[in-house]
Amino acid sequence: MRVIQKPGSMWRKAFVSSPETLGNFKSKDAPGYKDMLQCMRCGFCLPTCPTYALTGRERSNPRGRVALARAVAEKKLEFTRGVREEAFFCLDCRACTTACPSGVKAGEIMEVCRSQSHAFYPPGAMGNAFRTFILEKMLVSPERLEKSMIPTRLYQRLGLQWLVRHLGVLKLGPDWMEKAEGMLPPLEKPLRPQLPEMLSARGEKRGRIGFFLGCVMTLIYPHVSRQTVRVLAHQGFDVITPKAAKCCGAPHLSEGDRQTARELALFNLELFLAEDVDAIVTDCAGCGAALKEYEEILEGQADREKLALFRSKVRDVSEFLGEAGLRTEDLREVRKTVTYHEPCHLCHAQGISAQPRELLKAVPGVELREMSEASWCCGSAATWGLKFSEESRQVLDRKLGNVQSTGAEILATANPGCHLQLAWGVNRSGMSQEVLHVMEVLGQAVPD
Ligand code: SF4
Ligand code: SF4
Repeated sequence: MRVIQKPGSMWRKAFVSSPETLGNFKSKDAPGYKDMLQCMRCGFCLPTCPTYALTGRERSNPRGRVALARAVAEKKLEFTRGVREEAFFCLDCRACTTACPSGVKAGEIMEVCRSQSHAFYPPGAMGNAFRTFILEKMLVSPERLEKSMIPTRLYQRLGLQWLVRHLGVLKLGPDWMEKAEGMLPPLEKPLRPQLPEMLSARGEKRGRIGFFLGCVMTLIYPHVSRQTVRVLAHQGFDVITPKAAKCCGAPHLSEGDRQTARELALFNLELFLAEDVDAIVTDCAGCGAALKEYEEILEGQADREKLALFRSKVRDVSEFLGEAGLRTEDLREVRKTVTYHEPCHLCHAQGISAQPRELLKAVPGVELREMSEASWCCGSAATWGLKFSEESRQVLDRKLGNVQSTGAEILATANPGCHLQLAWGVNRSGMSQEVLHVMEVLGQAVPD
């Protein structure tokens, strides 16, 4: 099976990388000026923006944020702390891009502004050392990441977690610390070393795919990606998992470290193109969105044909199975009511909305119950949910109210960040829903 990328406006660049500075911006990665000019200030995006719903502030909505960036580009405004704050307060949920008739990408404009912020307001020595350690030492090395989880697994296994939670020790620290600890599910061993280099197709073979195993998936949700690989093999695909694959670069883009993101992108590009695969598939919406942006972030730094070929192959797993057609002959019944939360990086960043629902509906016995505002952010957004913990709780409560109204037994989603946030919220609110990845629901229907 060969997959072909459909043309679309989704991936138009929202930034320029040039040795010349743009207006009052400093470093070479600056938001694209033409993109800013396309905002006609119509306001269609305003009702879709979670930070506008929270604050009612013009500067905290997409139109206001684009106006701030434009004022900096036109030298009417310095890159002030206020601009910096808005760049980081934006969830980068991209709901505004879906709503915008002009295709303005306010979220991505803000994402690029974050890389500017370090040129204007460099972190102190400690902050810089921590940032460098996480972004440039840990996240670039799957082996180091895996080793770093050993103390956390011991903390859980030896009963220290139970003690810390019951003594309420973390209430003495900052909010984010208690939340981060509370979000962690029981950890298993990482999946990457356990997965075979190739899992053979079952039944009639339909193709060969490269599986991109995300960092959070291997470390925190190994049981989810195990199901994904199993389902893909059951569907007739040889599944190759290149073990050397590194982080997709999404955390670096989110934190404004575009240089490391480029290095990771170049590495993954070469690695996957060296494999003879029909498609590059992931079950992490955040990774999928980043992989689909390699063409943009590597423009001028990698061979164009290679970039286009790579882009033409990347698929979210639900998108891939939707195109391939799901074999349903031997699926078992799963008698459950399910509601679906759309990850922003799937529905807004990749335009994938119907496919996960179709997969759920194809499972015999599943009753899909739509929630209101299914594509409204859950308030996770990488580290946003920790940095703005109170605001994140408000966004999450709105989501959980909509989940509860469906009365569904399972809350399905398709991104590890949403999964962590929703499971934490469900647990904290005393709700009964089981939070599962779409592939876990499908996996329950696939016979051994
Ligand atoms: S970003 Fe788009 S939807 Fe929002 S005000 Fe500008 S043109 Fe209108
Ligand atoms: S990306 Fe999300 S939070 Fe940011 S401006 Fe757009 S709608 Fe608002």
